[in-house]
Amino acid sequence: MLIVGAGHAAGEMATALRMNGYKGPITLIGEEPHLPYQRPPLSKAFLSGDITHERLYVKGPAVYTNAAIDFIPNSRVTAIDKAAKTVTLEDGRTLSYSKLVLATGGRPRQLSLGDERVNKAPNLHYLRTIGHVDNMREQFKPGNKLVIIGGGYIGLEVAAVARKKGIDVTVLEAMDRVLQRVTAPEVSAFYQQVHGEAGVNILVNTALTGFEFDAEGKVTTVLTANGHKIPADVIIVGIGLIPNVELAEQAGLALENGIAVDEYGQTSDPDILAIGDCSSHPNAYAGRRLRLESVPSALEQARSAAALLVGQKKPYNAVPWFWSDQYDLKLQMVGLNQGYDTVALRGSPANRNFLAFYLKDGVVLAVDSISRPQEFMVAKKLVAERVKADPMVLVDESQPLKALVP
Ligand code: FAD
Repeated sequence: MLIVGAGHAAGEMATALRMNGYKGPITLIGEEPHLPYQRPPLSKAFLSGDITHERLYVKGPAVYTNAAIDFIPNSRVTAIDKAAKTVTLEDGRTLSYSKLVLATGGRPRQLSLGDERVNKAPNLHYLRTIGHVDNMREQFKPGNKLVIIGGGYIGLEVAAVARKKGIDVTVLEAMDRVLQRVTAPEVSAFYQQVHGEAGVNILVNTALTGFEFDAEGKVTTVLTANGHKIPADVIIVGIGLIPNVELAEQAGLALENGIAVDEYGQTSDPDILAIGDCSSHPNAYAGRRLRLESVPSALEQARSAAALLVGQKKPYNAVPWFWSDQYDLKLQMVGLNQGYDTVALRGSPANRNFLAFYLKDGVVLAVDSISRPQEFMVAKKLVAERVKADPMVLVDESQPLKALVP
């Protein structure tokens, strides 16, 4: 069993296989130097310096050793030969497989401004790996001026950590509000207000047009379409993810916004599976193919694929959910809100804890919970069961949500 990639999905896959009684050899091949680690803290507690590398690891080294899982770090797989059932590593080695699992995740979308200096600037960073955070640490310090490109989760989480550290923060967002792709205007407005109160300068409707550099190639100034010239010591870019599908593409596997798999993680080749951020699956809840970028889905997809490989059929059919931590606020989101016609707020943004219900024809499609973890658990059930609810009941805090669960 060869698992390409050693991220969240791969680590779970390897250990789940052993738990399911798989007896054959298992090898994890990762291009990073690390055992599988949690990426969410990279823009939260690890960036702030509150936790160390060791705390990021999903499982300690002994777990893999005891489970006889081989780990080959610092090794990039460069090709798959489906007919010979082998993969080639960057150093020329060839490894054979009976089953291959692609858990290659994704890489940050890079700025493409037609200026070669941009992605070489030593103070312009992306955020996906421990290495990325290590590279930015020196510049991520009190008094420095940070410009964040992109008002999505990662950008806003970084902004929150930076403000707590006394860093001067500006966020550039090309759309008319932050978190535009994922939340309702009410929730975006709440987060803009919270960040504004914390001293973050959020510029919406503001497209990045370029940078000014010093003689060493460092960015000194960020330029926008509205004519802003923002001085910067450090720039962090969070504008999305590109799934790592090149290996699969080269091997001729079917792609569809990611490596196309079925509900068990099976690709178009019977001996190759794909899981996690690199894969797109037919999502029963959404009624269409989805590629999700979240820890819960990476874990659950890994468990379903691990079950398949020991002859059990456990389809991945969880309702998508996600979380984001900013300041003292815990945002948890469940479902997909596309196509909603009504938003109902339970509780008040002024109190810094509330729920936003997204409804279509009265059916609860999705819920955002801001620091209401207990009600979020109930909300997950309402979404999973596609409960039809009266918005007047949802907003009435004297009526328990639990009563709506069938
Ligand atoms: P990855 O974790 O990306 O792992 C893939 C691994 O494969 C990488 O190590 C990569 O180097 C390696 N690889 C790729 N190609 C090759 C190759 N050819 N050969 C060898 N190795 C290869 N999710 C949440 O649910 N909640 C959050 O709050 C949250 N916050 C996040 C914050 C940040 C800063 C980031 C970056 C992500 C966050 N996520 C969050 C997303 C979550 O981390 C991902 O969904 C999850 O890591 C996906 O796991 P994966 O195993 O599919 O991919």
